[in-house]
Amino acid sequence: MQGPHMLAFLPALSLAGFWLGGEAVLVAVALGLPAIYSVVYPHGVHRAEHLARLPLSSDLVDISSAQAMAEQVVERARTANLSTACFMIEAEGLDTIGRRSGNDSVEVLRDMILGRLRGMLRRDDSAVRVGDSRFMVLLGPSLRHDLETMLTLAARFQRGLEEPLETGTGTHFLSVSLGFHAIPASVSDATGSRLVDAAQTALSEAMANGPSAIRAWSDSMRAERSARLSLLGEIDRALARGQIQPWFQPQICTSTGKISGVEALARWIHPERGIIPPGQFLGALEETGQMDRLGEVVLQHSLTALRGWDEAGIDIPRISVNFSGTELRNPQLVERIKWELDRFGLMPGRLGIEVLETVIADSPEGVVARNIMELSDLGCHIDLDDFGTGHASITALRRFPVNRLKIDRSFVSHVDRDEEQRRMLAAILGLADRLGLETLAEGVESVGEHALLAQLGCDHVQGFGIARPLPLEKVADWARAHTARIAEAQNLGRSTG
Ligand code: C2E
Ligand code: CA
Ligand code: CA
Repeated sequence: MQGPHMLAFLPALSLAGFWLGGEAVLVAVALGLPAIYSVVYPHGVHRAEHLARLPLSSDLVDISSAQAMAEQVVERARTANLSTACFMIEAEGLDTIGRRSGNDSVEVLRDMILGRLRGMLRRDDSAVRVGDSRFMVLLGPSLRHDLETMLTLAARFQRGLEEPLETGTGTHFLSVSLGFHAIPASVSDATGSRLVDAAQTALSEAMANGPSAIRAWSDSMRAERSARLSLLGEIDRALARGQIQPWFQPQICTSTGKISGVEALARWIHPERGIIPPGQFLGALEETGQMDRLGEVVLQHSLTALRGWDEAGIDIPRISVNFSGTELRNPQLVERIKWELDRFGLMPGRLGIEVLETVIADSPEGVVARNIMELSDLGCHIDLDDFGTGHASITALRRFPVNRLKIDRSFVSHVDRDEEQRRMLAAILGLADRLGLETLAEGVESVGEHALLAQLGCDHVQGFGIARPLPLEKVADWARAHTARIAEAQNLGRSTG
């Protein structure tokens, strides 16, 4: 045990007495604590891990109780003329673990996370869970809660929580985003609910930029949020003016190393705000009923790009386009695609249709199934996107004419370092093999992951480790450089082998 950091070991009751001004809910919360170390922000976190097994699940509080807790701390800070701060922390990926390993694992992980957080706090700070995968930390009143100190602390929480978590069901990796707000002593009209809201807003901002992001609340954030809302008002014009267009992410064949295709991913090239990713505007398009329009724009750009690469002698066999549930429910979809392929003089096999696993899981029959069937009959390649996250049954896999499984990034990351992850992936690859389906691993970020996927027999890989999504004008250069690298590697292989 690393003694030097551990100054005191307080039983819950004495903590409750010293912490609270008598609010029933807070007493309940505090009594739920197994114990708190008086630790001056230690570097490591694992000394607390064994305690995490104690039943902490009662430490879930609803948002109004969280605000009441914050109110207490703000009040104490005001009385003492000191500052205080609130962190909101999201453990991203807990839901995926729940789907894979069950709710019991998630409960254990939540307890471990809370245990780790508390292991990193001082006696006067507190941590509770405020949602399925969300945690709140309140710092006790103190002299110094300046931005630099807060950022250092946020980074330390993040590092601590992102260390692998070992449970009975294996090793789990989480991404952690944080938002925080500190109230200096000079602010006299602070309230607990404003403190909590500000930290929540900062967290939303972090998550929009995540995974693994940290954001401090600022006045400009409020302005940013309203700017974002006005952005959504602009989306109509953006589509009409051609500001929304796809970028292209290469996909590589693991056995030859050659480019097997590219995926078209929508980007909004905003004149003032730069590149806006689809996560920030797909929802608005969906709500305003414009997914079909987006689909048309992306398909047009994609087929134009493919023609261009053909003409330039660049070997890109296929372009894959994401189709939303809305588009797949359109009875005119197949006619439109047929017409577009004709117009560009491209064989249907050059077009990949990416369908989310959730879409086929939710659409047992009817127009979605018919469209996919007809596109497949036409000769288009059908990719099942985010495989492993959407609960499509094996029967659904048989009923829909799927050519390839795109294995979700959550099954791919750290596969070279994590035995459990490797077993899971091997099982998916085995299933695909039995069903005669091709496979592609998404979100391949490292050489180690790439190499292991090749060893396990995954057919294709895609991810930042190979290339990020590229704007049209960069694809040809990347493809030429990649082809040259492959040729060089082969020559080297020949001369040494
Ligand atoms: P997706 O189809 O699963 O696309 C893969 C996403 O993962 C892309 O995010 C890509 O940039 C990102 N990605 C690729 N490699 C890596 C990696 O190694 N690590 C990590 N962390 N991320 C990686 P993007 O472009 O933000 O797109 C998000 C989602 O938006 C897409 O997920 C897709 O579902 C949707 N989307 C994008 N373009 C379109 C479109 O034109 N139409 C429709 N309906 N949906 C689209
Ligand atoms: Ca996709
Ligand atoms: Ca995907």
